[in-house]
Parts: sequence; C-alpha cells; structure tokens
Amino acid sequence: MIQVMKIKDSFKETFKDVKNVLVVLAHPDDMEISCGGLIIRLIDNGVQVRLVATTNGGKGMKDKKGLKEEEYAKQRVAEQFKAGKVLGIEEVENFNLEIPDGELEASVENIGKIAFHIRQFKPDLVITHNPDNCIIEFFNRSTWVNHRDHRNTALITIDAVYPYSRDRGFFTSQFEKDKLEPHTVKKLLLTDSYTAASVKFFAIDNYLSKKKIALQQHLTAFDPSDADDYLQENKFENGYYEPLGFYEVY
Ligand SMILES: [Zn+2]
Repeated sequence: MIQVMKIKDSFKETFKDVKNVLVVLAHPDDMEISCGGLIIRLIDNGVQVRLVATTNGGKGMKDKKGLKEEEYAKQRVAEQFKAGKVLGIEEVENFNLEIPDGELEASVENIGKIAFHIRQFKPDLVITHNPDNCIIEFFNRSTWVNHRDHRNTALITIDAVYPYSRDRGFFTSQFEKDKLEPHTVKKLLLTDSYTAASVKFFAIDNYLSKKKIALQQHLTAFDPSDADDYLQENKFENGYYEPLGFYEVY
C-alpha cells in the first residue's frame, strides 16, 4: 500500500461536464484491468461510454502450445464483448478494430480509424494508454514493460484527438461518405501514468465485485483467480482506487 500519499477521489471534478467518454485501448482485456471500475461508475452516473480496442489480442497466449492465432483472437474478442456487457457498455458501443496483436503501427491510416470514432461519438473526454514510457513504474511497488501496442494505440489516439479530428483538412471522406463533422476533445485520461504529476484517483469501492466479474470473462487471457491480483493493485490506504493521468488538451 502507498504509505505517504493521501488519496482523494477526483471523480466529481473530472467528470462534472462530461457526457460522453471514448475509451481507446490496445487489447480485449485492457479496459477491465486499467479502468473497469471507473467505467462502471461512469455508466452508473449516466455517462455514455464507447470502447474501441485496436487489436484482437491473438498472440498473447504466453507459452501455451497448440493455440492458433486466428482462433485465439476470436475467443479474446468474444470475451471483450462479454466483459463489456458486465460493465454496462451497450453492444453497439463496443468495437474491436481487429488489427493483429503486436502489429499496430502509429500510422496516419490508423489515426484515421480513431478520428472516425471521435467524430462519430463526439466524446468530451478520451481515455487511452501512456504513449511515453517504455517502462511503467507502479508507484513504489513494481515496474513493467509498456506493450508496444499500448504505446502505439496511445500515439494514434492522442494524434487523433489533436489535430486530426478537429481540423476539417484531415480525412475529408469522413464528411462526404460518413456524414461526420469535425470534433474537439477537451480532456484526456491516460492509464499507466502513476508517476505523472497530474495523476488522479477514482474511487471504485462500490464497483469491485462487478469489476471482478468483468475481469473473469477473460478466460483465455488469464486465470479467473488472477482477478484478485488485479484488484490488489487498486488497493490503497483508504480504499480502492483506479489512478489515471489527467490532461486538458484544449
Ligand atoms: Zn494490453
């Protein structure tokens, strides 16, 4: 547990003018792990949430033998939709771009795929990964590698937020063919930003059991008993919180 930090819930101040939240993460299980409790809380408070997972997660089988990527990917995407349902995300607001696991490039083409969702869903706030750090420091507890798909998903999402969704010069076919309009996103929350000066904590005590059930939908990604380990990462001195870095972008 963190010894020195006094944790304060920042939910009200962060989301006071927020009606729509777009979540763009790399793999089918990333949302439940990083911000599943916050998503349940947002939906509970009447906020509309759309999830876009960029890759199909088809290679994350660790050293398990005998699994074909295509079949594994199918199962993982199916689990994304099951877990999303537990969190309360409407089926029509749950997307997977089906890019092969580990092969997501920070290309203009991929920025366009996220800009499409921003212009269509018109979020006030976007949640994505941390684009900067290859090694993530989890307070004073542990460190891990920031997956390449996570970094590239964050890059294309932040680029899509500014300036590609805002400016009419980008992806003009989205206006003609898809009947969309430019959209300006005002705020960003980044996962894996525990050392950021702008880190905010969102209390999830009331949503722990639902978060656990959502995590346990990812049967091919990890053992159901691992859900408790993930919840332990949310445990602080005065309750359970999900920490994310907060940035005003406009
Ligand atoms: Zn991931």
